[in-house]
Amino acid sequence: MFVVESPLGINMIERKLYYFDNNATTRVAPEVVDAMIPFLRDFWGNPSSAYRFGAQVAGRVEEAREKVAALIGAEPREVVFTSCGTESNNAALQSALATQPGKRHILTTAVEHPAIINHCQWLRKQGVDVTFLPVDAGGLLDVRLLGQSIRPDTALVSVMWANNETGVVFPIGEIAALCRSRNVLFHTDATQAPGRLKMDAAGADFLTLSAHKLHAPKGVGLLYVRRGAPFQPYLIGGHQERGKRGGTENVAGIVAFGRAAELALARMDDENTRVRGLRDRLENTILRSVPNTLRNGAKEPRLPNTSNIAFDFTEAEGILMMLDELGICASSGSACTTGSLKPSHVLTAMGVQPARAKGCVRFSLGCDNTDEDVDYLLTHIPGVIARLRETAPDKPARTRPARHPAGRAPVLVAESA
Ligand code: PLP
Repeated sequence: MFVVESPLGINMIERKLYYFDNNATTRVAPEVVDAMIPFLRDFWGNPSSAYRFGAQVAGRVEEAREKVAALIGAEPREVVFTSCGTESNNAALQSALATQPGKRHILTTAVEHPAIINHCQWLRKQGVDVTFLPVDAGGLLDVRLLGQSIRPDTALVSVMWANNETGVVFPIGEIAALCRSRNVLFHTDATQAPGRLKMDAAGADFLTLSAHKLHAPKGVGLLYVRRGAPFQPYLIGGHQERGKRGGTENVAGIVAFGRAAELALARMDDENTRVRGLRDRLENTILRSVPNTLRNGAKEPRLPNTSNIAFDFTEAEGILMMLDELGICASSGSACTTGSLKPSHVLTAMGVQPARAKGCVRFSLGCDNTDEDVDYLLTHIPGVIARLRETAPDKPARTRPARHPAGRAPVLVAESA
């Protein structure tokens, strides 16, 4: 449910929300809310305090650490809680450079999240050499080229586990083994992977997660730091997190993260099968029934919840606004680049031409989505696209009436090119 506000700010009606933007953020699960509330309301002591009112809280932080460690196959002491995925990514990059002053090269990919790409662009201005590896038309990486691009002065290889825009999954185990064999530190931004892929951090030196992608609240993340890996704290302050990250812990957020990790691990197999089924039905039906559409990115290996679709002769902005009117949430590109007029850097790196890239929409499903949600989207999307194409300056030559896939009212759609 969401509330529609009148211009006077008075809540008018409640409407059902059809949420297809789980790669941007996820709803905090009710079990997770229940777990964290006591740490906002009752147990608000500082975990670093010596007296019991504070110290008892520290035990709960450690329990949460065990739970998130189990999700990524790590030892609890290898988990450093942070404020978000962006901080974890920044910390990994900065630490690799700080602990290896003779190495001034970062090797990453052209399709990383802005939390890596923009930080690397900033590092370039500080004199660090950065290589952004290309991807192919399916968004896949050439691991051989990655190996050839490692240099004696490479401080860190940073490759995301799964792409937030297309869902394409990179072979992280293989890349980690390659980096290990070449004696170079390896970081993976695994923000989109937990609960959607089986994960084992063991091969990586550093790994990033963000709680709000996992049905926990915003403002908490983690950096896995392999035991024995050189590490320089990014936030320098108190002795929290075994000296690896200063700052009083976000206790309620951390407890929530732990509970969410526990739930994700328990539900992953069943949920992924169900969500994949919904995603495939959504994607296949759109591709079949809406002309001039195609999927961006390889079909596999891909996150089970993500579908990125190009609607030619449209602009994503218009699609998203019309969907929003219908209570449907989806997005173009990453949430962090929404509002930017530039085509997605991920699609551009895949060779998608600007005219096509501007009409691409990402649908990312989650455990709250149902068959009814998918039916609702499929009922409305052909009409939305047809209406936008009627006014598009570069619209396809002819339009013809078509039956809706679910056999409902006919809508006007463009003839296939
Ligand atoms: N990395 C990836 C792949 C993401 O999808 C995101 C968020 O969208 C981030 C990093 C940033 O995470 P946070 O919002 O916790 O800073």
